[in-house]
Amino acid sequence: MTRAGGTGRVVYPGPHASPVVGGPVIYRKSPRELEAMRRGAAILVRTLDRLERAIRPGVTTSDLDRLAYDAITEAGASPSFKGYRGFPASICTSPNEVIVHGIPDETALKEGDIISLDVGVLYEGLHTDSAWTFPVGDIDDDAARLLAVTEQALEEAIARCEPGNRVGDIGAAVEHVVTAAGFGLVREYVGHGVGRRLHEDPQIPNYGPPGRREALRPGMTLAIEPMVNLGAGATRALDDGWTVVTADGSLSAHFEHTVAITEDGHEVLTRR
Ligand code: MG
Ligand code: MG
Repeated sequence: MTRAGGTGRVVYPGPHASPVVGGPVIYRKSPRELEAMRRGAAILVRTLDRLERAIRPGVTTSDLDRLAYDAITEAGASPSFKGYRGFPASICTSPNEVIVHGIPDETALKEGDIISLDVGVLYEGLHTDSAWTFPVGDIDDDAARLLAVTEQALEEAIARCEPGNRVGDIGAAVEHVVTAAGFGLVREYVGHGVGRRLHEDPQIPNYGPPGRREALRPGMTLAIEPMVNLGAGATRALDDGWTVVTADGSLSAHFEHTVAITEDGHEVLTRR
C-alpha cells in the first residue's frame, strides 16, 4: 500500500540519473534478517489461508479483520498495517471495485463478489507483505479472467527477479501481461521494497520500460503488487482518506508477494 509520488509518476531518479540528495536508500538484508522474514512470511501465509477458508456469503470484512488479527497475534507477530499512518484495521479489505486500502466494515460479502485481502506482518522487527484476490462463491467469467490475469502478471514479474535485471524489467513484465489481456493497469500505486520498514525504496511501478531503474541485487526484498482493473486503469480516492476505487466502477484485482533477490535468482517468501 503505497502511492506513487507527485502526479502519479514515480519521483525517484533512474539508475543513470545524477546522484541527488534524498534519492533511494535500498536496504539489502543479511542472511539473519532474511531468516526472520521467512518466519514472518510463514505466519502471513497461514493467515491468508485462514482468511480464504472463512470467505463465504454473509461474512463481513470486519469478521475477516478480526480473524486476521487473531491469527497474526496468536503467532507472536503484529499486523503491520494497524495504526500505519492512522490506518484503523489489521488488514485491507477491498471488495469488487475497490482497488486497494479498503477499510473493514460491517458490509457482508455476497455470492459473486471478489474480495482483495492485503496483509502485512511484523515479526522479529521485519515486515512482509502479501495480497490476494479471492472469489466469493461462484463468480462470472470476466471476474475469473481478471483474477487469473492479475496472478499471471505477478508470476511473470517474479520470473524477472534475478541479479542483473532492473526494477523496470519487473514493471514491464506486468504491463505486458495486462495490456495483452486488454485490462486496465493501475499506474498510480506501486510496489516497494519491504523489510526494516513496511515501505522502503525502491518504488516498483507496474509498468516499464525494461532495462531501467535500480539494478536488482542479492539481499533486496521487494513487495511486487500488480493492481488490475476490468475496465480502465484510472483510480479515484474516497474521502475516508484510504479507499481507492476504479474510476469507472469496474472490478479490480490485486495480487502481491514479498520476494527476496538471491545470488542466482529469487525466493518468494510469501508463496502460498
Ligand atoms: Mg505492499
Ligand atoms: Mg500489501
